[in-house]
Amino acid sequence: MLDQKRVINNFMEMVRISSPSKKERKMADYLTKVLSDLGLEVSEDNAGKIQGGDCGNIIGFLKSNSKTKKTKKTIFLSAHMDTVVPCEAIFPKIEDDIIKTDGTSVLGGDDKAGIVAILELLRVIKEDKLEHPNLLIIFTIAEEIGLLGANSFEIEKYNVSYGIILDCSGSPGKVIVKAPSIAQGKLKITGKAAHAGIEPQKGINALVVASKAISALQLGKVDFETTANLGTINGGEAYNIVMPELEISYEARSQDKNKLDALLKETFDIFEKTCKKVGASFEHSVKIVVDGFMIDENEEVVQKVKQACENLSLPYEQIETSGASDANVYNHKNIPTLNLAIGMSKVHTVEEFISIKDLISNAKILIEFIKVYKE
Ligand SMILES: [Zn+2]
Repeated sequence: MLDQKRVINNFMEMVRISSPSKKERKMADYLTKVLSDLGLEVSEDNAGKIQGGDCGNIIGFLKSNSKTKKTKKTIFLSAHMDTVVPCEAIFPKIEDDIIKTDGTSVLGGDDKAGIVAILELLRVIKEDKLEHPNLLIIFTIAEEIGLLGANSFEIEKYNVSYGIILDCSGSPGKVIVKAPSIAQGKLKITGKAAHAGIEPQKGINALVVASKAISALQLGKVDFETTANLGTINGGEAYNIVMPELEISYEARSQDKNKLDALLKETFDIFEKTCKKVGASFEHSVKIVVDGFMIDENEEVVQKVKQACENLSLPYEQIETSGASDANVYNHKNIPTLNLAIGMSKVHTVEEFISIKDLISNAKILIEFIKVYKE
């Protein structure tokens, strides 16, 4: 049976383990031990080597104990081990129903609230001898800095039918069925240097060219499902030199991939034309870094999670997000992957918190999911 105290204690223990992106070793070793003790086959892949981190993704496998054919599928459950900074030393505390820190670090409930739910499910499966399909557990590295662990994970090896990721803000019962494609990269304008006091007419100021182009761009909320942003700007050499070069970091997102492609083309065209007019040149390194997805409502994973939430009287809701998660990677590989809201709040700030009620609900959803799975 679900043990509330155990969930809380386990969560408090894990958030104290510092695990910034690419430095998840302590967390990886901790989880390797827990999964092994629970009887899973545990391995570590080479994602750390590929991505330059100090450990790889931790993968656990629990063979199906089912006697019926229907539950011979492999389903994966996943959460990421890394957290954003500051997370050097974390001092969690419980106030009434809320777990937060002393205000000097993030809590790291993003995504240890997801991990603790998966571990509790595995404990309950073992204790109550719940019938279950093959379960693949994936604890990824470096999600926060570009889904690096998931990108390096060879999920194709495991013949997975579908999966659940626990890594979204919002109250338990909400599920992400739609996420945007994201493009990122640098826009580079090259003009020409000249002495700004003696012969400025011989130069081409990259910033002046850029400003003309920028004034014609679609930025901010482009439409209800599309955004664009100029994030950083770098250029110039001195007071008295006409700025020869300028680099701008650019990002755009859309739930509709065609709209994103059109927006990118328009943006590049504007820069190219503006540069050409004055003899400057334009280059860019913008590319799609995350592929968006949309999961059909009829997918088994959606139906089963919906059923689980309804059985638990949790308000079920299908939502779309404007962010990215490991779910983008697996959905792009045609493995239907549902990302669950797990109650983490004010994430990526030192005010991050989660309620005990939500922490428990997450574990309940997974346990109920396994129970309805064979129906
Ligand atoms: Zn996260």
